[in-house]
Amino acid sequence: MSTIAENIAKVGVRIREAAQASQRDCASIGLLAVSKTKPAAAVREAFAAGARDFAENYLQEALEKQIELVALPLTWHFIGPIQSNKTKPIAEHFAWVHSVDRLKIAERLSAQRPAHLPPLNICLQVNISAEASKAGCTPEELPALAHAVTQLPNITLRGLMTIPEPTDDPQQQRAAFARLRELQVSLNLDLDTLSMGMSDDLEAAIAEGATWVRIGTALFGARNYSAT
Ligand SMILES: *Cc1c(COP(=O)(O)O)cnc(C)c1O
Repeated sequence: MSTIAENIAKVGVRIREAAQASQRDCASIGLLAVSKTKPAAAVREAFAAGARDFAENYLQEALEKQIELVALPLTWHFIGPIQSNKTKPIAEHFAWVHSVDRLKIAERLSAQRPAHLPPLNICLQVNISAEASKAGCTPEELPALAHAVTQLPNITLRGLMTIPEPTDDPQQQRAAFARLRELQVSLNLDLDTLSMGMSDDLEAAIAEGATWVRIGTALFGARNYSAT
């Protein structure tokens, strides 16, 4: 088994090679370490190996880890489904939220963002593959949602996020990510973020313009949900 530090180095090589292959500056691609189900000790190890941005899906688990790790200068991102009665702690304890898919959630995050903090960075999650089970707004809903979100005072709309239907076919992977990029361009807003690509498809995402890749398994190993 590799250590987290070794895994971070390997993922760094994959990001650099993918950036090079599409003539992109690798400084424009951020590594988001997805630490869901992993203990605070794993986050510490990743931090020691250079990771600074961490993403969590489950609010309670995230808040507990944040308390344990309060001494470290980490940037926390929320990437999980959001219930409207949980928006306040999310607005208070994260710098980014990648999984906003309806106006009500954005309105609550804006209203509940503490005044002493900078605006909350938001990505709108889009359901590219139209899977009934997945979160995300539809491509048809996106323009009205995006324009409404830009009007809210305490959040900054940075871009779009997607979790495409898993596939091993690099062409299909790229097609889904290209779709997100095209949707973002068609909004004609001042957006700088595409949150797309995970452990198995980061190369395709970078080829299509990803600025955050969200990597869990390739850094921390497989997740064991039953153990948590
Ligand atoms: C768990 C998760 C990831 C990480 O997936 P891996 O395949 O483990 O890299 C990325 N994004 C979201 C939204 C997730 O829930």
